[in-house]
Amino acid sequence: MSGPVLALVAFAGMEAVSYAAHRWVMHGVGMGWHRSHHRPRAGRFEKNDLFPLCFSTVGVTLFALATMGPAITPLLWVGGGVTAYGAVYLFVHEVYIHERLPVRVPRLAYLEWVRSSHRIHHLFGGEPYGMLLPLVPRALRARAKAARPVADPLARRRMRTARMRL
Ligand SMILES: [Zn+2]
Ligand SMILES: [Zn+2]
Repeated sequence: MSGPVLALVAFAGMEAVSYAAHRWVMHGVGMGWHRSHHRPRAGRFEKNDLFPLCFSTVGVTLFALATMGPAITPLLWVGGGVTAYGAVYLFVHEVYIHERLPVRVPRLAYLEWVRSSHRIHHLFGGEPYGMLLPLVPRALRARAKAARPVADPLARRRMRTARMRL
């Protein structure tokens, strides 16, 4: 397999890995950290930010291993795909959906679809756990449409949520 194809396969495979990590680690033993992401943020950071720090070690390890001999140099491409997925996830989830940086991003149909799907995850704390391909069962989307939450489940700050509750 050529390097760029390896990187693409790693990138695509990361959606399954991130689905599993979100569903069974972050909503499992890691809920102590992840809960902070499902509550309105009080300050600039949340405990959940420790997860990307931990996950970044996967890419770092792949890059380090790739330098250990010509036989495993292709791991550089795998590390590249994994890191690229992390960067795209960061942009889509933190910048586009949760608007954590003061930058204006053009509204794109794909990203709006991802945003509305991720909103359902925040609404009920269940599916969809995926990020770049968040598949929502039709019945769940209908349930979300009918739900009238007291506050926007994607609200950025505790203050904003409080205001919405008034
Ligand atoms: Zn989120
Ligand atoms: Zn979650």
